[in-house]
Amino acid sequence: MPQNPGKRIVLTSDTTMMSSYHGGVMLGFAAIMPRRALPEWIFHNLFCPPVPVAKDGSAEIAPCGLRKVEAALLDAGFSRDEVMVAHPHHLEQAIGPNTKIVGITHDDPMGKIAIREVEDIIGRGPPFNRSKFLQLVHHPLIREHRPKVVVGGNGAWEVMGEDVGVDHIYLGEGETDFPVICRKIIGNETVPPVIRGNAVAGDVIPVNRGATIGGIVEIGRGCWRGCAFCSPAMRSLRHRPVEKILEDVRVNLECGQKDIILHCEDFFSYGYSGGRTDEKKILQMVSAVKELGPKTIDVSHLSIASVHHNQELLRSVSRTVGVGSDQNHMSAWIGIESGSCRILKMHMPNKARPAKIENWPEIVRDCYRLFAEESWLPVASLVLGLPEETADDVIKTTELVESLMDYTGLMLPLFFTTIADTKLGGRRGFAREDALPEHWQLVGLCLEYNLHHLKKLHRLYKERMTAGPAVHAALKGMNLMADLVLSKYMKRMKRGEPPN
Ligand code: SF4
Repeated sequence: MPQNPGKRIVLTSDTTMMSSYHGGVMLGFAAIMPRRALPEWIFHNLFCPPVPVAKDGSAEIAPCGLRKVEAALLDAGFSRDEVMVAHPHHLEQAIGPNTKIVGITHDDPMGKIAIREVEDIIGRGPPFNRSKFLQLVHHPLIREHRPKVVVGGNGAWEVMGEDVGVDHIYLGEGETDFPVICRKIIGNETVPPVIRGNAVAGDVIPVNRGATIGGIVEIGRGCWRGCAFCSPAMRSLRHRPVEKILEDVRVNLECGQKDIILHCEDFFSYGYSGGRTDEKKILQMVSAVKELGPKTIDVSHLSIASVHHNQELLRSVSRTVGVGSDQNHMSAWIGIESGSCRILKMHMPNKARPAKIENWPEIVRDCYRLFAEESWLPVASLVLGLPEETADDVIKTTELVESLMDYTGLMLPLFFTTIADTKLGGRRGFAREDALPEHWQLVGLCLEYNLHHLKKLHRLYKERMTAGPAVHAALKGMNLMADLVLSKYMKRMKRGEPPN
């Protein structure tokens, strides 16, 4: 067979990112599991099945960020023959002697976000996401043809200082600067090892040329709340015009996606200006998306403070989407981060605005009550070990979580990780040896909460999933197994001891 000459620019990622997740994007969390905890075939069949592949080896669905870069390159004058979003299992159809650049997008390439807790709890070596990413970077075709490997996406900062065979780390937004960088690389010009892409205006964010994983449609970027540990906080708030949002929804539906996730850092900040939420704009956008006929609509992220300040708006969004009639629930990722107002004031002073930060625990509880009434499932993050956190602060977070135990959702306790280019970027991350007994008690409590709610979540989530009965039965089995395997660690941690 003649050798494939290859595309000039190949955009891809490993299978922890290029997965359909059976239509249930939350299954992607499994990528943080240690590789030795689970045989690879189970991991791929149950949690991260690869995306479907087209005849030419391209991926039929891809992460939204990769689609944006693809569109930006095509808009910048590269031809379809030069640019390909490639399926990671079919790189022989994409990479060849003509390939100059392999652009890899990743949210967590080195497994730095949540893995330390998981490694501590299960203790079985490196996670799937890190090992799959490294396998891709060292793919035989990349070694043979030596294109420049550029890593971008939300987790690109994790590769800084790591000797893993990456030529360039691309931080920031790609739409205007990445095509310029590609021309320089192709022209053999010097390009620095770390590139910082500039932010683009909301109306410049291009329309995708193909479907996205989970039907994710970007509606805006950035966040004004400025939390000290967070990278979106470093980007100014911008939103896309509704026509472009609708075009991205159409592209997804035409490519066969049925469910849509509207993505930005705080859904209720869409159209935000002058310190005010634009209810009319939000409802017009949701109802225009609804008219295009997706099976379900979700939002990716919500600020608890925005919800608290706009409770009637959440009820109106539910009605417009048809929660309870057209779909059984909506879900959103929210950031509780801490139950300690002292820590919030120190590192997230705008977290509760326009409400007072002193009322944070009550604000969170009010929102959970509202979520339950309106059938919204919150996936909440907590940050443990922020600088200056004391045992008393952790106890306050634990008390807050205890008060939420009966509300269905997920609670993700994350050890504080220093993300490059954030306000706390120069501080040391939180590690196992720093953990107080109160930290372990909190992690144990979150594990108890998650195990308690997982079965109901699986039941509700089924309406979005494309998996057949065998996969669902196996996932049910995994749920029961997780109860058995993890309960001994949970009990230990709830006593204030490390898991092992
Ligand atoms: S509210 Fe969320 S997205 Fe905004 S800065 Fe804080 S942590 Fe980041």
